[in-house]
Amino acid sequence: MANVKCPNCAREFVRRVSRASLVEKFLSLFYVYPFKCQLCGHYFRFLQWGVRYIRVEEDRRTYDRLEINFPMTFSGDSGAGEGTVVELSMGGCSFSSSADVVNGMILKMSLQVSSDVAPLKVKAAVVRHVRPENVGVECLQWERSERERLQEFIRGLPIERQK
Ligand SMILES: [Zn+2]
Repeated sequence: MANVKCPNCAREFVRRVSRASLVEKFLSLFYVYPFKCQLCGHYFRFLQWGVRYIRVEEDRRTYDRLEINFPMTFSGDSGAGEGTVVELSMGGCSFSSSADVVNGMILKMSLQVSSDVAPLKVKAAVVRHVRPENVGVECLQWERSERERLQEFIRGLPIERQK
């Protein structure tokens, strides 16, 4: 989905959304698909000539939030910091940290899920909430193939760690 930008805020953090109406199903025959900006929520349609999307069912488990505990580091426009990931899903994570972060900040993250493997790299995540006990972020862009690695990691977690 490279090169699709939000016409409202001009950032590239957009996600294709499912075709809700008959009109949209019809338009998709002509490679016009609906998108939603993950930053400002703007909804728009975009023509991607020759691109066909097929619906892929993902394991429901990958969207469950898992309670977890591992170190992470992050960096953003106003500095870097480190923290502990306390909750994780395919869509994002929560971490505790003493560093200063504010809502809407875009962070690069490195998640040290296990001491045996290289950390998972998240290219861009947006801060969605800042609470005294933790910071919640939504993952927008992953480094190449890192999302698949996270999926494998989540699938491999012992079942009793699921909420
Ligand atoms: Zn936008």
